[in-house]
Amino acid sequence: MKNKSKVILLPCNSYREELVYDSLKKGLKLLGGLEALISKDEKILLKPNLLKRAEVEKAVITHPAVVGMFGKLLKEEGYERVILADSCGHGNTTKVIAGTGMDTYLQELGIPAVDFSEGIRTPYEEGVQAKEFILGKELLEINCVISLCKMKTHALERITGAVKNSYGFIYGLHKAKGHTLFPSADSFARMLIDLNQCVNPRLYIMDGITAMEGNGPGSGDPVDMKVMLMSTDPVALDSVFCRLVHLKPQMVPTCYHGEKMGLGTWKEEEIQLLTPEGELSMAEAVKKYGNPEFNVDRRIVKYGIWEKMAKALNLFQKKPYIEESRCIRCGICVNSCPVPEKAVDFKNGKDHPPVYNYKKCIRCFCCQEMCPEKAIKVK
Ligand code: SF4
Ligand code: SF4
Repeated sequence: MKNKSKVILLPCNSYREELVYDSLKKGLKLLGGLEALISKDEKILLKPNLLKRAEVEKAVITHPAVVGMFGKLLKEEGYERVILADSCGHGNTTKVIAGTGMDTYLQELGIPAVDFSEGIRTPYEEGVQAKEFILGKELLEINCVISLCKMKTHALERITGAVKNSYGFIYGLHKAKGHTLFPSADSFARMLIDLNQCVNPRLYIMDGITAMEGNGPGSGDPVDMKVMLMSTDPVALDSVFCRLVHLKPQMVPTCYHGEKMGLGTWKEEEIQLLTPEGELSMAEAVKKYGNPEFNVDRRIVKYGIWEKMAKALNLFQKKPYIEESRCIRCGICVNSCPVPEKAVDFKNGKDHPPVYNYKKCIRCFCCQEMCPEKAIKVK
């Protein structure tokens, strides 16, 4: 019989250091300990979600306390060769973490924060959707990657969690290009599965103590979920996140394709859910830690003839909109748009908000992710 994927659910009601440290330590023990996962001489890369520079309370990035306490555990266990890096949506690692507290933790622990210096073309023949990736050079010098992801909503994929966090391995502007190569939620998800299988992070830890709901992953609202999740199976981990927010995992492309392509499983009967207090059924976990009010897209996507026609004619599709009163005309949305001829630009001059050309728009929602003023909504 196939082994079940273990997901560790760690109740944690604040970012108080002792609490986070204690929870992570208990979680690692339930997974068999760090030594079962990583050898002492391996080079380790910590990959938090560092989407863009934002106040920590806004829940845009993985909380510094989660990164700091996990780094502390690594160091205490004798892991010396550790770095931290991400290919951020806007800015780079050192700029995004500056002043968040993550920089202080890393300095104290002697863990260098690294900006990927160049992109290396990396063939991946086994890929179903993507046969190569442009990966950060420093990532390729590493033996073991640990993904420290954030529990957030996402306009394209409904959620961003463990599987989606790996997009930050793609170097710089090649991330934007990925959206043009894989414009649909399904093709983008399949590419992400290939990427996870290519890079193969050893462990995924999700910060869901304060999650992001609504207009995520950059402009949503913080909401307390008071849990961290830990697993070596990113699909199983994300599927537990889905269930906790009353979203069917099979409706999330990264879970659906992740299972089909063999990255992991979203199926309840194939997941063992453990807490420091013992094993829990999924129903018990949802009852105890779930949030039915969590603001996430739960609408069913239909693939009938009418839906296909509507899509072809660009009717009834989700679209980004700019709320004029919030817009500061910074142009970040325009720069983030991966369509070469720009589907959003200052057509009416810089005294006015940018304007969308929905005929050109591929609905990647990079503009909405990057807007610093929460001025872009997807409707
Ligand atoms: S990123 Fe946001 S604030 Fe900046 S120009 Fe675009 S809509 Fe306006
Ligand atoms: S306008 Fe926004 S959603 Fe449309 S292609 Fe550009 S970045 Fe993507």
